[in-house]
Amino acid sequence: MIEKKEILRKNLDEVIWNIEQARVEVSEHHIVKLVAVGKYSDEESIKTLYELGQRAFGENQVQQLATRMQNLDDLPIEWHMLGHLQSNKINKLLELRPSLLQSLDSIKLAKSLNKRLVEKNQTMNALLQINSANEESKSGVGVDEAIDIYQQIKQECSNINLKGVMSIGAHTQDIKEIQKSFELTYSIYEKLVKNGATTCSMGMSNDYELAIKCGSNLVRIGSKIFKER
Ligand SMILES: *Cc1c(COP(=O)(O)O)cnc(C)c1O
Repeated sequence: MIEKKEILRKNLDEVIWNIEQARVEVSEHHIVKLVAVGKYSDEESIKTLYELGQRAFGENQVQQLATRMQNLDDLPIEWHMLGHLQSNKINKLLELRPSLLQSLDSIKLAKSLNKRLVEKNQTMNALLQINSANEESKSGVGVDEAIDIYQQIKQECSNINLKGVMSIGAHTQDIKEIQKSFELTYSIYEKLVKNGATTCSMGMSNDYELAIKCGSNLVRIGSKIFKER
């Protein structure tokens, strides 16, 4: 098991080093948050990473999030929900009180979520997910409607605290295409800063350095941290 810890340490160090390189290219003052995504891994590894200093973790399924929060509840971990939220899972998510729902992906979901939040006298921090590469397979609001929907949620959903935007880079090997999807998301984020947006979540294992250079200040990294070889 010592060996496993050393592998995770090496992976984490490498990712942190790369984030550091990319962020200072933007500016010394550009701070990037790292959320470790545990969906391909196990609780033991999450615990090990916690011991190594990592504090924010994300899951993309409500049930997995629930199990892990419960089994690791002795650790003051900051939990993020990253995946599409089905409306029949809203109550469960409310019980869990994650620190950030990154995948608020439609006005319809925002309205049903807000309704429950009001009923339970609770609030939730969230990011509006943008489908910046306009891909059928991905959820999220369209680039052209993102600003209007963001403002509508701000106005109509009193118990949702919108903190910014989240996007998944274009699913392609073409770096130009990926970069374009990040630049589009960032341009929307920039316009929302005056509405109080502070978080631009983009970048995963294969594209986080590029995402940071395009302005991301939160990266969500799974396989590069948890892989054991
Ligand atoms: C799985 C997942 C990640 C992490 O993916 P990796 O490529 O393993 O880094 C990030 N964001 C979301 C929304 C995910 O579902």
